[in-house]
Amino acid sequence: MSGLVQPLDWHAADWQRMMSAHRHNRLPHAILLSGPKYIGKQQFSRALAQHLLCITEDYSGNCGHCKGCQLNAAGTHPDLTVLAPEEAGKAIGISDIRMLSMNVSKTGQQGGWKIIIITPAEAMTASAANALLKTLEEPQGQTLIMLVSHELGRLPATIRSRCQRHVLPLPSNAEALSWLQSSSTDRETLQLALTKAQGRPLMAQQYLTGGLLDRHRQFDLWIDDVAAGRLPPLEAALHCQKLDAVVLIDWFLFYLHHRICSDIERQCYPQIFSFYDKLGKARGWIMSGANPNSQLIWEELFFDWLALSKV
Ligand SMILES: [Zn+2]
Repeated sequence: MSGLVQPLDWHAADWQRMMSAHRHNRLPHAILLSGPKYIGKQQFSRALAQHLLCITEDYSGNCGHCKGCQLNAAGTHPDLTVLAPEEAGKAIGISDIRMLSMNVSKTGQQGGWKIIIITPAEAMTASAANALLKTLEEPQGQTLIMLVSHELGRLPATIRSRCQRHVLPLPSNAEALSWLQSSSTDRETLQLALTKAQGRPLMAQQYLTGGLLDRHRQFDLWIDDVAAGRLPPLEAALHCQKLDAVVLIDWFLFYLHHRICSDIERQCYPQIFSFYDKLGKARGWIMSGANPNSQLIWEELFFDWLALSKV
């Protein structure tokens, strides 16, 4: 990852608290940053890393000019390690953590902080998390380990209890709209993207600039077409197999949520709630990183959905 970053506007208060701790020499050796995905937690962790590695004595952010900032701008600072799965949905294994622990025991090459970012921390396998415990228990000099977590409940309690925890907030609707302004001049489009992204601005931005809004509309059509018997479940499953399953399941849950809300006055049959639970479980299997067969999961979901639509 290259380029210098600043924390996002809605994390200004959290940033100030972090800066104050730094000024008073009270930064812990391990920080756990949690909150929903797509709100800027990784950006916050990178901004903090870059700030600590900036050599200029300035507590507001990175200076952009010193050697530390130049190395960070190029993405080649030797004292910053970012550990992430090789591909989305894959695990962070024990060998990655062992390498990292060896690295932590050496002093910083630039004579200052050594920083490690693990993101998302819940991608660590159980044995990887165990291996990290020792490093968390025996802090080395000026080392800061930042764990970024979208799903705090999936992190072992032993890891959580050894870190200082910070829950980063979502922005208000107005803050998010203001931040998204450069992506579209049409306020209605911005609001639609933000609503579909459930208030998460970085996802809304992908909707607006990465064509995600069109893909979401397409997915809603598949759901409607399967229900109406126009699209066979097997074919729908084939379409879905090539896309990010967690995002698709979130879209399906979003679709059902609206359906349940709009049906409440009329008829809301219990099977729809069972299906809602089933989607949640499927999401859990996929998130567990156990590499389940996504084609089979989607086939079962769409066959159930078709059956449900005939009730
Ligand atoms: Zn600097």
